[in-house]
Amino acid sequence: MPRRQKMTNHDNISDQKMIQQEFEALLEDYRQTPHRQKVELITSAFEFAKQAHSGIRRRSGEPYIMHPLAVARIVVREIGLGSTSICAALLHDVVEDTDYTVEDIETRFGPKIASIVDGLTKISGGVFGQQASLQAENFRKLLLTMSEDVRVVLIKIADRLHNMRTLQAQPLEKQYKIAGETQYIYAPLAHRLGLFPIKTELEDLSFKYEHPDTYQELQKKLEAIKGSQLEAFEQFAEPIREKLEMMGYEFTLQARIKSIYSIWKKMTAKHVLFEEVYNLLAVRIIFDAKLDMSEKDQCWMIYSALTEMYKPHPERIRDWISTPKANGYEALHVTVMGKDGQWVEVQIRTRRMHEIAEKGLAAHWKYKTGMAMEDETELDKWLRTIRDLLQNPSPNAVDFLSTFKLNLFAEEVFVFTPQGDIKTLPQNATVLDFAYLLHSELGDHCIGAKVNHKLQPLSYQLKGGDQVEVLTSHTQHPTMQWLDWAVTAKAQDRVKKYLRKQGVLSELFVEQQMAESDQPKEKNKQKSIILTDDNINILYKLEPCCHPIPGDDVLGYRDEQQHIHIHKVDCPEAARLKTHRGKSLLSATWDTTGAHTYPQAIHLEGIDKVGLVIQVLYTISENYHVNISEIEFKAKDGIFSGTLVLHVHGINEVNNIFRELNKIKEIKSFSRV
Ligand code: MN
Repeated sequence: MPRRQKMTNHDNISDQKMIQQEFEALLEDYRQTPHRQKVELITSAFEFAKQAHSGIRRRSGEPYIMHPLAVARIVVREIGLGSTSICAALLHDVVEDTDYTVEDIETRFGPKIASIVDGLTKISGGVFGQQASLQAENFRKLLLTMSEDVRVVLIKIADRLHNMRTLQAQPLEKQYKIAGETQYIYAPLAHRLGLFPIKTELEDLSFKYEHPDTYQELQKKLEAIKGSQLEAFEQFAEPIREKLEMMGYEFTLQARIKSIYSIWKKMTAKHVLFEEVYNLLAVRIIFDAKLDMSEKDQCWMIYSALTEMYKPHPERIRDWISTPKANGYEALHVTVMGKDGQWVEVQIRTRRMHEIAEKGLAAHWKYKTGMAMEDETELDKWLRTIRDLLQNPSPNAVDFLSTFKLNLFAEEVFVFTPQGDIKTLPQNATVLDFAYLLHSELGDHCIGAKVNHKLQPLSYQLKGGDQVEVLTSHTQHPTMQWLDWAVTAKAQDRVKKYLRKQGVLSELFVEQQMAESDQPKEKNKQKSIILTDDNINILYKLEPCCHPIPGDDVLGYRDEQQHIHIHKVDCPEAARLKTHRGKSLLSATWDTTGAHTYPQAIHLEGIDKVGLVIQVLYTISENYHVNISEIEFKAKDGIFSGTLVLHVHGINEVNNIFRELNKIKEIKSFSRV
């Protein structure tokens, strides 16, 4: 992030003291680790970086060196990396921001640290610049450096985490861009690399900057119930504690409360209120495994002890030990009913499994030394897939980016070949994906499959445990339609390649960067817009893709013709704009007088009864005097669904109407369309 400001005076004494303290804290973190004690090397990297950045401050006012120091601390404490990475983190902005070169770093610190710093410098401009092709190219670079040395990306994630933690100091439109980019690429990457706490924090922070009001509201609500949740935890944990002690285990019991972002995701996906989100509390049992028995057996023993105390939910047992997740995650998950009748998820893990769950890759490799090299984990396989994809890049970089993105965040399902081999696929993957996973030729000629001995089409979505036998025909070939069915990057990539060769698929994106670079840069361009009743449709247009209405968190995008388009902050189109056209974004705030109304379609579902439609219409038009311009109700087998277009003044009105409709007990769900 550009944030340089020359200091007027030289670093003063209190700055020096603060810097020294932070460095001491870093050394202390480092000494806590089992890594070899290379304090001297770390000290000289610190001294070098400090001197290189001296006299420069971050936008927040802090001396610049505080940033690399913070990144280095994240690298050691939260990711668990060693001295090479700590040094590279301390030096990560030196080449980018000062006159020193990679060669200077190499002379002083050797080729390994220098090559990591080099990798970090290459991807320093943010993954996404203003131009679509350039962003994708940068992203490719990021993956390329990652496949060479994954530490580059781990340090990059630490860098991004610190920038997100200090995002307050940045101007608003920059906050959008950085938060959007984080949500779009860094949180999924952290997830894929198994850095669960970092992924959660990145998501929460992006959400905080994209929906500041909602974030605060949820934070307050969560704060208010924390006490009672922790009390419930204590009660729930007590008998477990006794039992584990009896079994002779050293262990930790943790209460985990759902993150703000995941609560919000639940609320929007299920259209429920905060109060209706259940499973806020999860419990973790982390134990030191005994040496005389396998970790897996011990986890199941504890499971058995647990379910003697609490009844398990028959459909909610996840065994991530027999088949770990692709990011290396291992644990046994079970949902049991507490004494108060609430379902509580319990995660059972050994200390080793826990460290992998928290620190991902680094911990994973630490435990892996000594294993046979052929013992390739899902994570290794994933990294290999990236290398494969990079070696045969599709001609269109943007295309590559979007197909690759598909695979970052997906949860997995496990399916079986007829021979009983387990294959991992992202959730929602189809028969077509499975065929391509086995072999490209098999994919190209696939006509369907026998899933659990039953004939299923290409588009059939696989479920965990399915046994799949691919069926092929020589005359079969990929068509455009296949793109709708292919979920994995590999399948998408292959189908596109085939279609392109046939001339069916032309380049998906028209690039415009040649126009853009000739234009003189306009300074002082207006960076925010106030949305009023008077300037609607004159100054700005509310986009039909997401139908923003007053009260929604929105942002503006200025197109080449200087027209301003308003989207909801979390509209998928806005997500694309944030990452692809970051510099043309404006912040937008509502200031409506309440005279104007906006159309808003709502959808209702529930149990049909006589007079229900009248009751709904009465509630809306009589209590709120809201005009209704379209009504459509259907009922079948005792279930009704209805869509209405209301003319409302803003989001508050919609929420009030929802609250009122919620009192009609036959209505089971309602949502904005
Ligand atoms: Mn940095």
